[in-house]
Amino acid sequence: MDQSKIDALRAHPIPPRGHVIDGQIVPASDGATMDVLSPLNGQVLTQVAKGTARDMTAAIASARAAFEDKRWCGQPPAARKKVLLKWAELIEANALELAVLGVRDNGTEIGMALKAEPGSAAGTIRYYAEALDKLYGEIAPTPGDILGMIHKEPVGVVGAIIPWNFPMMIGAWKLGPALALGNSVVLKPAETASLSLMRMTELALEAGLPPGVLNAVTGEGAVVGEAMGLSMDVDVLVFTGSGGTGRRLMEYSARSNMKRVYLELGGKSPNIVFADAPNLDEAAKVAAGGIFRNAGQVCVAGSRLLVEASIHDEFVAAVTKATATMRVGDPLSVETQIGAVNSEVQLKQNLGFVDIAKAEGGEVITGGDRILQETGGYFMAPTIVTGVTRDATLAQQEVFGPVLGVTPFETDEEAIQIANSTVYGLAGAAWTSNLSRAHKMVRGVRTGVMHINTYGGADGTVPLGGVGQSGNGSDKSLHALEKYVNLKTAWIKL
Ligand code: ADP
Repeated sequence: MDQSKIDALRAHPIPPRGHVIDGQIVPASDGATMDVLSPLNGQVLTQVAKGTARDMTAAIASARAAFEDKRWCGQPPAARKKVLLKWAELIEANALELAVLGVRDNGTEIGMALKAEPGSAAGTIRYYAEALDKLYGEIAPTPGDILGMIHKEPVGVVGAIIPWNFPMMIGAWKLGPALALGNSVVLKPAETASLSLMRMTELALEAGLPPGVLNAVTGEGAVVGEAMGLSMDVDVLVFTGSGGTGRRLMEYSARSNMKRVYLELGGKSPNIVFADAPNLDEAAKVAAGGIFRNAGQVCVAGSRLLVEASIHDEFVAAVTKATATMRVGDPLSVETQIGAVNSEVQLKQNLGFVDIAKAEGGEVITGGDRILQETGGYFMAPTIVTGVTRDATLAQQEVFGPVLGVTPFETDEEAIQIANSTVYGLAGAAWTSNLSRAHKMVRGVRTGVMHINTYGGADGTVPLGGVGQSGNGSDKSLHALEKYVNLKTAWIKL
């Protein structure tokens, strides 16, 4: 990463942005805009269109028209593949520009942003582009006088509501499979991080995606998101974000056309460290990174550290030491490991959780406060709280910030019980040299992903999805395609 290039890009003024509807960049129907604040300094970065329900309806109508006249789903698979590969190429060619734009908007440290945002988004789009001409229907094992066929048809119009922590990466998790299969999509980026995803949408048009196949509407969740949720013309709604909004989306579906709703929600992911971990220093470093990178604003963040009682003090000291080496600050400096909290609202929420943890008997052994206030930005010291009981608020509710709660355990069974004692089930990890114990943890801990002797790594070849109140369905891998198809049976008498 070249700091001088980053510094040049960070100085660029950002022109106000409109929606992308029917291949055009358009303002809100009533001309309203909303300020975009930078978490780096609290200053206004630019304005985006503050969408109305009418704008959302227009975007959905455009997506529907594109689907019905088959301008995309009717193209030969090789042609669709070519466009998507071109899009991936454009994302990569503009990677630094996209990453810096995204960081100015959402505060993720640039090292992580570059890899996880344009890097991952391009990889995801390419993965599904490559897959799309290798997908076949099925012939069923029917009696000889019958031909039973299973067609996999695109669902039609997909609505995708995207959060602010990794807008391009998560956007691509939805867009890649949905578009590869021939669907039309309407995107609703988050209020506090829409710029990079809107730019990525414009690049899709440049790559040759026909107008109307991908539309994007900015604005408030409660206005344009709600209009999407309640639309009678959206077939599938895909979402990553908070449980509260996920619940609302299910209600919208029930109150409208019973559209399918796929949710990737929060987590309270347990990182379980046994005394027989292969390398406790490594485990401590990875545990710190697993909660504090992107200031804890990661759905799979390892926010609960469960430590075998016999090594509790020693291990907590090692994690604290590893944390002290992580530099918090300007997300656009290549030296930074922990960037900004996305918004002032989020920062206040994080600090509120620390107060509650203290009131419930937890001991803050490092961090706990806002820092670098002189920058005007939203920065929080990485925070470790010990003495967190399994039913404490900090052990039960997702903070979505740089706050780690530590809970000791004595036995394998107790570790599993504590790990499973939340409503969530997104990710987890166990550190042990004992193969049998490792497998017991994989089987025993109720999550969508379990890591062994590592934390947080995964690539596009494996699914990501939660159980319990962490959601349903999966992003990534070929399994994600299932969300965007309807199965149609053809039963033919020969
Ligand atoms: P957070 O609380 O972390 O911001 P949200 O779940 O509120 O998470 O936000 C994730 C996405 O959901 C954003 O794009 C946001 O605009 C959208 N959203 C928020 N409220 C609603 C709503 N009532 N209906 C539809 N979308 C919403």
